[in-house]
Amino acid sequence: MTPSHHAAAGRFRNPWPNGALQRFSGVLRWQLDRLTKPLPAQPDPSVFRSVTPAFARPRASEDRVVITWVGHASFLLQIGGLNVLTDPVWSERASPVAFAGPRRWVPPGIALDALPPIDVVLISHNHYDHLDDATVRRLAANEPGARWMVPLGLAPFLRARGARQVLELDWWQEKGVDGVVIGCTPAQHFSARGFGDRNRTLWCGWALASVARRVYFAGDTGYHPSFGAIADRFGPFQAALLPIGAYEPRWFMRPVHLNPEEAVQAFRDLVAARRPATGRPAVMVPMHWGTFKLTDEPMDEPPVRVARAWGAAGLALEDLWVLAHGESRTL
Ligand code: ZN
Ligand code: ZN
Repeated sequence: MTPSHHAAAGRFRNPWPNGALQRFSGVLRWQLDRLTKPLPAQPDPSVFRSVTPAFARPRASEDRVVITWVGHASFLLQIGGLNVLTDPVWSERASPVAFAGPRRWVPPGIALDALPPIDVVLISHNHYDHLDDATVRRLAANEPGARWMVPLGLAPFLRARGARQVLELDWWQEKGVDGVVIGCTPAQHFSARGFGDRNRTLWCGWALASVARRVYFAGDTGYHPSFGAIADRFGPFQAALLPIGAYEPRWFMRPVHLNPEEAVQAFRDLVAARRPATGRPAVMVPMHWGTFKLTDEPMDEPPVRVARAWGAAGLALEDLWVLAHGESRTL
């Protein structure tokens, strides 16, 4: 039987009732609104802190997880003795061209040449703020032994840029890498890099499970009913990395990007399904904010709103890890 997220002619789709995307007329309406309606004021980029990273060199011990935020959806995750990068983007712009497109507000939290040896690179989907041509080429050259794990349809892109070991997975598939199980999880989003390629490659999140710790990286996603099923299958998670930015205007972004309140709800769904049995409660690490301005909300609004929603849900503030660019924390 064909899975419900596989559509006709080799394309993919969101299988949930609220997962339908805006049509092209919606893109036009958004851009027109931007010309006619006043947009909220933006902060000065200097409001965003950067700190010196404190990740383990060359690797963390197998029973620890060290999470370092490079910026946007790029993390260095040290788990089960492996060094893992998520959606690595080191370029100045998240764009097909170097002279235009969203520019970085904050430099990468770790210089590319200062990374420890990389064992695994995880890609969630092909949007420019998650899959960067120049970064892929440099990483493939610097780290010829790295394994690249990608959702269906993305392997040719990576192989063409020098990646040697590339594995494509479908939602719910998993692969063991040196004692760490890495699972491909559903997400409500879409893919495209140019004209006519919409939804020809899949989008996903990733779950990582060592013997001691489990971490969930959501990729780009709107709110959908399967967060509990993800925790059931791959949890319980001690940390959930969830996107909180790029949500305005809501009528346009809702199917594809969580807002801060929905991100907290997704976290509660994950924890309600499988709560860590012992030790600390799970932590949420917000991402996909503060690095590239993609949408209309003020760049400094997502962390304020996520903290408010977190408190309103009665969750302990020390379990909301709002990281500065470059900040490392250990689980
Ligand atoms: Zn995206
Ligand atoms: Zn994105």
